[in-house]
Amino acid sequence: MSKGKLIIFSGPSGSGKDTLLEVLFTRHPEIKFSISSITRDMRPGEVEGKKYHFISREEFKERLSRDEYLEHNLYVDDYYGTPKKPVLDAIENGDDIILEIDVNGAEKVRKIIPDAISIFIMPPSFAELEKRLRGRGTDSDEKIAKRLASAIGEMKRADEYDYIVTNDVVDRAVDDILHIILADRLSLDRQKEFINEVLKKC
Ligand code: 5GP
Repeated sequence: MSKGKLIIFSGPSGSGKDTLLEVLFTRHPEIKFSISSITRDMRPGEVEGKKYHFISREEFKERLSRDEYLEHNLYVDDYYGTPKKPVLDAIENGDDIILEIDVNGAEKVRKIIPDAISIFIMPPSFAELEKRLRGRGTDSDEKIAKRLASAIGEMKRADEYDYIVTNDVVDRAVDDILHIILADRLSLDRQKEFINEVLKKC
């Protein structure tokens, strides 16, 4: 069985990554998602163990000392980390797995797993990004300002990614993402074992 692919998925807070992923997993439930451990407070509507494991700073630091993270980052005063084992297991099992991480995490993961595919989600405009962040109604003005400043920094680093998808119309953006993931499954690298299997029986 050929190995699965790691897909790095980034974009500024408010770019609509969660909505895109929800639609994508409905259409392709075989694609796995890496659940990060984070130390920030839960937002209304968030569920433990769906997108994140919400843990204390102490717990996070303990896991870090046990080398349980593939990468981790301090983002707007909170820790975010990608657990190592589930990601490496998925790739070994031939599954495609999406890591929704920030630009710093992406940079670290590319060094560890150089054949990862990376996709950056752009908002249609900065005004739209600000509107979406304020519309959430969950963060203080101070947090929103920090997230907007962080968004500018992240968009300046979009050129580090293999693919750029603009999230203006959700269904079209999901189509774009799926084209990238599904095309990779047809790459020579991932078809070599199949070709050899066929040739063995000739
Ligand atoms: P939010 O607090 O809005 O859910 O996420 C803030 C940022 O942290 C987003 O850019 C998100 O992609 C990123 N993020 C989520 N999980 C991880 C992780 O495990 N590692 C890193 N480096 N960033 C993460």
